Parts: sequence; structure tokens; C-alpha cells
Amino acid sequence: MIKDFVYLRPSTVKETLLSLSKYQEDCKIIAGGQSLLILMRQGLVAPKYLIDIKNLQELNYIRFDPKEGLKIGATTTHRAIEKSTVIQEKFGILAEMEGKLASIQTRNWGTIGGNLCHGEPAGDPAPLLIALKANLKLANLNGERRMAVEDFSLDYFETALTKDELLLEIQVPLPPVRTATCFDKFTIIQNDMAIVSVAASVTLNDGTLCKEARIVLGGAAPTPRRATMAEEILVGKRLDDALLEQIGQKASEQAEPLSDIHASEEYRRQLVKILTKRMVKKAWEKVQRLT
Ligand SMILES: Cc1cc2nc3c(=O)[nH]c(=O)nc-3n(C[C@H](O)[C@H](O)[C@H](O)COP(=O)(O)OP(=O)(O)OC[C@H]3O[C@@H](n4cnc5c(N)ncnc54)[C@H](O)[C@@H]3O)c2cc1C
Repeated sequence: MIKDFVYLRPSTVKETLLSLSKYQEDCKIIAGGQSLLILMRQGLVAPKYLIDIKNLQELNYIRFDPKEGLKIGATTTHRAIEKSTVIQEKFGILAEMEGKLASIQTRNWGTIGGNLCHGEPAGDPAPLLIALKANLKLANLNGERRMAVEDFSLDYFETALTKDELLLEIQVPLPPVRTATCFDKFTIIQNDMAIVSVAASVTLNDGTLCKEARIVLGGAAPTPRRATMAEEILVGKRLDDALLEQIGQKASEQAEPLSDIHASEEYRRQLVKILTKRMVKKAWEKVQRLT
């Protein structure tokens, strides 16, 4: 049963920040409500003031600039990202990831900002955005700050947002030349929350060796986690089967998964190993085709 609340619907970012500042001790932002309403129905969250930003058009945009890269406003829906022609063309993997996130109904309401701010460790966008070196623009009444998506999640369902802060924008830089990025998740029901997900990004040097690698695990720790030990194995080398095996093994060791009704810790570690190998191999093969 949802407890009574005062419903506020600001029409600008400024108004939203004023309300957040005024009611910060007992308020919650609602965007698509796809995650928050579940918690409210369960009585886990019961804010006195609910600040609805779903219709904040100021934050509903997808912009691409050949120098600055991609900028996505926080209230942009998953479906808009999936269907954006500029994203399909310049960041195809983002559109592909969104196409597998939940049902069309949920994608039509759920926002990229809400997804990140919910802080679900198995959410799809964060691992991929970390692999793509994305940043976030946050604001409160005192001004704006920028932070890497990598630093945003602090623990299960806990983020670096302060009580009076609003996520404004997701910024995705252009990838370096000779870079390929892949993402996939393992689910029990198609398009459902990941049991485990992996994003892998590989950049080649001028020859055929790996210059930089990013391997990011979802659903495998309290927050999306970079498998840095696995990344280090690949840098400076050419991928082969023996190396791939070591990379999968290290990623699995660096994971810190839970056991729950969906999967045991051991099973998740095994999934991390397999998915990491698949994603790194796929990114490696993809980057060869770019050169
Ligand atoms: C059936 C179902 C299946 C799903 N499957 C998947 C899946 O496969 N993969 C996946 O990644 N997700 C999945 N989700 C999650 C969902 O798709 C949403 O993307 C997301 O969790 C919440 O987006 P929202 O806009 O609805 O946020 P809300 O529910 O409105 O808000 C979520 C949280 O973020 C905060 N918030 C929202 N916007 C901002 C902002 N701009 N600034 C500061 N705080 C903000 C709210 O206060 C709240 O704490 C699923 C959800 C459902 C219901």
C-alpha cells in the first residue's frame, strides 16, 4: 500500500532544484517510476514529497557533436535511446543494449537517468557506460559537478548523489580510434534483469597489440565493477586462447557476487568467466574488422 504523499510537478530544472533543496530530508524524485513505484508499493520507500520530473523537457534530449560526443538528458527514455538514429549510427552498442532492457512498455516509461540513480548493480546501462568512459553531470542549487559513471555507484542501490542533487546529463565521449565495445547479459527470462552482464572495450595500438582494455561486470558485485586484473592481462598483448582463459579466470576472481533465488555465487562466477571470454573475444574480432 502506497502511503500518502504531496505530489509536486516542477516545470523547470531550477524549480526542481528548489524543491529538492527545500524538502531534501523527506522527498524523492520520480522519473518513469518503473523502479521507485515498486519500492513505494512495498513500503520500503515512503517520501512525504514526490517530485515528478517525467515531463521536464529540458532534460529530454539526445545530442551528438563530432568533437564532444554524445549527450543524453536524464529524462530521456530507454526507448528513445534505442530508436535514436544518431545513437544507432555512432554508438550502436548503446542502442543494442537498450533494445534488450526490459519490455517495450518499461522502455517507453523508464529513463536512463532513473536507471542509473536507482543504483541497481545488475542494471544494464552502467557497465556499458563505464566501458565507454561516460561521465555524468549532476546539479544542486549551488552549481554543477561532473563525475565518471565508474565512480557513481557506491553500494547496492546507493549512489554518490547527495539528497539535494539531480542528475542532469549522461556524456559519452567519442571512443579512441581502433576501438570496439561489446555488451551482453545472461538472463533467465528474455529481456529481464541480468543475472550477470559484461561489457568489454578493446583499443588496438598502431600494430596488432591491445593498447587499452576495459572489462566491466554487472550483477557480480555491490556495484558495477571493472575487472582491472583481467584488463591488465590483455594490455600490450595479442589475444589468443590461453590469454582469453586467463582473462575469464581473473574476472571471475575479481567478482564478488551474491547468492540469491536467481543464482548461486558459484554459478554467477562461472557466468562472469564465460561472458567475459565471449565479450572480449567479440570485441577483439570486431576491432580487427575496423583496421
Ligand atoms: C518489469 C521490469 C523489468 C526491468 N528490466 C530491466 C532490465 O532488464 N535492465 C535494466 O537495466 N533495468 C530494468 N528495469 C528497470 C527500469 O527499466 C528503469 O530503467 C529504471 O530502473 C528506472 O527508471 P525510471 O525512470 O522509471 O526511474 P524511477 O523509478 O522514477 O526512479 C528510480 C530512482 O532514481 C531516482 N531518480 C530518477 N531520476 C533521477 C534524476 N534525474 N536525478 C536524481 N535522481 C533520479 C529516483 O528518485 C529513484 O530513486 C526493469 C523494470 C521493470 C519494472
